[in-house]
Amino acid sequence: SVVSWGRDYEPFARARDEAVEKIFKDSGTSVFTARDHLLFEPHEILKNDEAGQFYQIYSPFAKKWFALMNGPAGEARLEREASGKSQSFNINWKEIKKAGDFPFDDALEKFVERNQKHVTVPIPEAGFFEASKELKKFRGKMTAYKDKRDFPAAAATSGLSLFLKNGSLTVPQILKNLKLENVSMKKEDGPARFAKELVWREFYYSILFHRPQVEHESFLAKYRDIQWKKNEKYFERWIEGTTGFPIVDAGMRELLTTGRMHNRVRMIVASFLTKDLLIDWRRGENHFMKYLLDGDLAANNGGWQWAASTGCDPQPYFRIFNPWLQGMKFDPEGLYIKKFIPELRGTPAKVLHDSDADRTSWKYPKPLVDHSEQRDKALGLYKNSL
Ligand code: FAD
Repeated sequence: SVVSWGRDYEPFARARDEAVEKIFKDSGTSVFTARDHLLFEPHEILKNDEAGQFYQIYSPFAKKWFALMNGPAGEARLEREASGKSQSFNINWKEIKKAGDFPFDDALEKFVERNQKHVTVPIPEAGFFEASKELKKFRGKMTAYKDKRDFPAAAATSGLSLFLKNGSLTVPQILKNLKLENVSMKKEDGPARFAKELVWREFYYSILFHRPQVEHESFLAKYRDIQWKKNEKYFERWIEGTTGFPIVDAGMRELLTTGRMHNRVRMIVASFLTKDLLIDWRRGENHFMKYLLDGDLAANNGGWQWAASTGCDPQPYFRIFNPWLQGMKFDPEGLYIKKFIPELRGTPAKVLHDSDADRTSWKYPKPLVDHSEQRDKALGLYKNSL
């Protein structure tokens, strides 16, 4: 007599849910939807101006988010939801299937087929049980998170993104479990830093909700006419991790084989595709969605548009990562690089990050492009589109 689901904010999902709701209502079935995926929905965090516009800058958005989280609204949600008491339905698909005819078998099969990830390592089970194991592991790492989170070899981040994406875990559960309910925006320690990352996720959901066009075009109108290059060879080499830039290739190979990629490395490879290879960010975004286990339209689009400088509150266009320096700074020993590029395991770290190293004896490709030349070209592309 009643059908229920958690609200989804992606453009396709909104249209789908509206259509489904109509079908049920027309046939006399009640529909009940609930907030579940975010702590605060996009319509709840708006500017105080008359028009109630959405925030286009992260800091004031986060300030409001923390004020709400620390206030009565947040407190009530955290208490209720983290304890699981708000669950109106507790569905166990395996039990339902065992119980008899499962009318959605076909649909489920198609869904699984279409969403199959092309990775070669086991994918964790979905559900709170698996997710809570990761949560527990992360508890002891939170203090060091602030200093270590940018180093891909350090395994210092939570690894929770895929559980958040697939609904195995909610933000209130994380905040309560890690005792983050009193964390404030002003702090800069590990716990505060971590909570602020969860807010980036909600910020990008807000952007996607209020400006659904970002799914297909740059948030900033001034960069919609950038003349991206269509170099298929470069694109293929980027995908397979054979650009000759070790930190980029390690990241791309991590993605292909594990369905994951560290955040710092995502920023580096995205910057490299757009500002070194001069290829449209949308192509990179699509590739990430095919492979990432945590592939999520809002965060992925936000991350790509940030790196390409076309998005909301992005990296300025003239700040272009130097992949050699990024590698040296964030993987100084080359541990991450060597994990994913076996051909480089015997190479001393110092040489790995040297663009001029003599590579004649290496079984690893020469750099596909010259970073400083490409940098100048990128600056030209952005300036010409202004
Ligand atoms: P932690 O550092 O432990 O962070 C905790 C949680 O905060 C994450 O699980 C995630 O939910 C959220 N978070 C952290 N950083 C960000 C961020 N920059 N933007 C939004 N949310 C964030 N994240 C996705 O969940 N799905 C994506 O498809 C995705 N694509 C990205 C593409 C690019 C180009 C970039 C630069 C970033 C992308 N991110 C994406 C954000 C970030 O890289 C991942 O959330 C993070 O690496 C996941 O690892 P973690 O759970 O260990 O993160």
